Amino acid sequence: MSVTSVSKPGASQTQSKQETKYVFFFGAGKAEGNGKMKDELGGKGAGLAEMTNAGLPVPPGFTIQTAACREYMKTGKVAEAMEKETATALARLEELQNQKLGAGENPLLVSVRSGAKFSMPGMMDTILNLGLNDESVKALARKSKNERFAYDSYRRLIQMFGNVVLDIPKHAFDEVFDGQKKKRRVKLDTELTAADLQEVIAQYKQVVKQHAKRDFPQGPLEQLTLARDAVFRSWNNDRAKVYRRMNNISDDLGTAVNVQCMVFGNLGETSGTGVGFTRNPATGAKEFYGEFLMNAQGEDVVAGIRTPVHISELRKLMPQVYDQLHDITSRLEKHYRDVQDFEFTIQEGRLYMLQTRNGKRTGRAAVRIAIDMVNEELINIDEAIFRVDPNQLYDFLVPTLDESKGGVEVIATGLPASPGAAVGQIVFTANDAVVAAGTGAAKSPVILVRSETTPEDIHGMEVAIGILTARGGMTSHAAVVTRGMGKCCIVGAGEIEVDEKKKQMRVDSLTLKEGDWISLDGTTGRVIKGRLNTVPASADNADLQILMGWAEPFRTMGVRANADIPRDAIQARAFGAEGIGLCRTEHMFFAEDRIPHMRAMIMARTEEERRAELAKLLPMQRSDFEGIFRAMDGLPVTIRLLDPPLHEFLPKREELMVEIARLELTDPKSPRLKEAGEILRRVEELHEFNPMLGLRGCRLGITYPEISEMQARAIFEAAVNVAKDGIKAIPEVMIPLIVTVKEMSNQGAIIRQVAEQVFKEKGSRVEYLLGTMIELPRACVIADDIAVEAEFFSFGTNDLTQTTYGFSRDDIGTFLPAYIEHGILKNDPFATIDQTGVGELMEMGVERGRKTRPNIKLGICGEHGGDPESVVYCHKIGLTYVSCSPFRVLTARLAAAQAAATDKLKVEAGRTK
Ligand code: ADP
Ligand code: MG
Ligand code: MG
Repeated sequence: MSVTSVSKPGASQTQSKQETKYVFFFGAGKAEGNGKMKDELGGKGAGLAEMTNAGLPVPPGFTIQTAACREYMKTGKVAEAMEKETATALARLEELQNQKLGAGENPLLVSVRSGAKFSMPGMMDTILNLGLNDESVKALARKSKNERFAYDSYRRLIQMFGNVVLDIPKHAFDEVFDGQKKKRRVKLDTELTAADLQEVIAQYKQVVKQHAKRDFPQGPLEQLTLARDAVFRSWNNDRAKVYRRMNNISDDLGTAVNVQCMVFGNLGETSGTGVGFTRNPATGAKEFYGEFLMNAQGEDVVAGIRTPVHISELRKLMPQVYDQLHDITSRLEKHYRDVQDFEFTIQEGRLYMLQTRNGKRTGRAAVRIAIDMVNEELINIDEAIFRVDPNQLYDFLVPTLDESKGGVEVIATGLPASPGAAVGQIVFTANDAVVAAGTGAAKSPVILVRSETTPEDIHGMEVAIGILTARGGMTSHAAVVTRGMGKCCIVGAGEIEVDEKKKQMRVDSLTLKEGDWISLDGTTGRVIKGRLNTVPASADNADLQILMGWAEPFRTMGVRANADIPRDAIQARAFGAEGIGLCRTEHMFFAEDRIPHMRAMIMARTEEERRAELAKLLPMQRSDFEGIFRAMDGLPVTIRLLDPPLHEFLPKREELMVEIARLELTDPKSPRLKEAGEILRRVEELHEFNPMLGLRGCRLGITYPEISEMQARAIFEAAVNVAKDGIKAIPEVMIPLIVTVKEMSNQGAIIRQVAEQVFKEKGSRVEYLLGTMIELPRACVIADDIAVEAEFFSFGTNDLTQTTYGFSRDDIGTFLPAYIEHGILKNDPFATIDQTGVGELMEMGVERGRKTRPNIKLGICGEHGGDPESVVYCHKIGLTYVSCSPFRVLTARLAAAQAAATDKLKVEAGRTK
């Protein structure tokens, strides 16, 4: 299931170990590789090989496999055998084409393309038109009888090569290019003439010399070698690393390098380039979907430099090409039995395929497509349930804008690139987004507004809650990346003019500045002025029900939700939660009308005073529980007794000191001064050096038994009360932070005694369970002892991870980035269970707990309960249920179903990557 492991190269296993085959040729209808060899050839190389073998029009070339990149990363050098094989493959290509790389009257030009096992859109760099130099550009101009085209291709090469290989910032070239356009008073790139472009080239060479302290290399072979190594290095550029981290892709895989004959979409008005999907990637609708630009090359479409044209236009312009493309891509979809995302180029009316891969799609599209493909008999139901990544179900839960109050002012409409609603304050650069978004308590929603996004914006896109671009199509960088992130995005809102320097955007006469609020509707593409409210989603979507209906029969592990209040419990139940796995009681005390009593209780000097305050809290707590029991009628509700340190309920020490100092000056007689002084004294008494490891959990109930008594009374009175209305309450009382069985018996005795008392008073009883959280390493070790008293365990994997690693979850941010960067940790152990350490302890707890009490209920209630990979793990170690936040319930249900289906069907639970 995990996508992070380096699988053993399948096809080269037949090869002897010492003899790695580095280079795989494709051309003239036959390829040495094939579509299954993604480990070696990368996704792109494997696709090119497969398409070549299928007889499709693919420009010939060769792929240098990922092993070469891994060696280069390790040693900084390339293998000699690889160099040799490359030379042979190049010679073969030259012979096939009857051309020489960058030489002669008909020079061979190639692209050098990166391509890893998992597609990383826009993350790695590609160089086009390689082989051009001061001489071959003239030959190309003569041969094509198109000077403009030749010089346009050359300037593109210098630009891409300069940026990718020589690390020259893009803007250095952009300034020259835009300068030339200004000078010529033209708007479009295509309006520059051959002479203009020659001027641009001369200046580009200056830029290269200035920045790289060397001349642009004229030797085609030198260009090729340098480009190849740069592609290897691009595996480790920052944006590739960020993308891999976000998508849980291993840093060790490396990229392949594809060297491929150029075909030219920039040869004039019968040439062009485009991208497309065999189905709509946003909705899943079965419609041929694509965008293209005439007289353009490569990245022009995806980079959003010009807004591309819908594929239906191609049907009018070049009907045969359109039909051929439609036919080829339909065949590809049938062949791969999945949606294809493809790239093509038309050179003077002839179609070439440049890439095909399984298309990324939104969650809604993934579900729609899986269902349609079952109906079309392309796949069966057992496969269909694996076609949706459990995390993607979140898409069904995206909020929508609340337009019920009216007054919605739509200021622009763009393409609905990624669904949902986003309401936030606008910023205009990725860095500003990071600053404005803030962290922790100071977090605030920002919307990143750009003319177009580039891979350099990735850190800003990560923190923004929504993205808006003025340019670009449904396949632009912004669209593809946000869809992957499940983040609301609108692209190509052409009415908007973005001025990054002035930090403002304009639509007609309206100017919005940094910090202004806007609302995005990613489902319709509408940009709305101001700050609308959002309405939460519901799970009663017909497609979703069908898919879940297929998956659910496989599921063997229960799914519950963490919910503290009736509203969340109702929501969770609607999403299919089969109980509450964690109801935290402390949240109930933070409400405005309660915290004074809670504080008074803490301030109390004697047990008597404390009891008096607790008595005031009792009815409130009881009515909370009644609400939850009603919401969960007939389903179990696990209630955790008070857990956090008491000082969390008191004002902050610093705030009190400031208040006291101020009052001493301004109002020394005020009664508040005396009160504040007393609170401060108590705060100082309760002060702990390490509250995480201090007076919390069951230690509270042991120190102040009357707290546990009150809570138990509230629970049981509530349970008996609702029973009168025919509601079946199934309380499971959970004692937190146990490390010895005696703690368990101490608190257990109180609870059982209160229960009996309440049942006697009320003259009726309810069934209940008494259990504990297992959240400290020692508890795992002595789980057999604890199970004597505890009727259920719930693994509190947040604390268990904190105490196993000795990492504070709230402070991990200071060093986790360094740990990830140095490869010390693969990912955040608070996001996905660390199976080797924390998991081993859990397994010990499971095994020992079951030894004492074979039918013990075992759950998990940490954040991990909603993480698909962790859910699969919980299934594997035999937990009874996972519990997660209401909005993760669907995800957990599907992940658990997939895990069980994997066992049953003995299939590999592959995600569509
Ligand atoms: P990415 O992985 O970022 O999509 P690609 O290697 O696919 O990068 O290439 C970037 C762009 O250049 C694509 O639009 C692709 O179609 C185009 N391209 C790549 N190789 C060639 C070629 N040999 N001839 C024409 N266009 C090419
Ligand atoms: Mg591509
Ligand atoms: Mg805990």
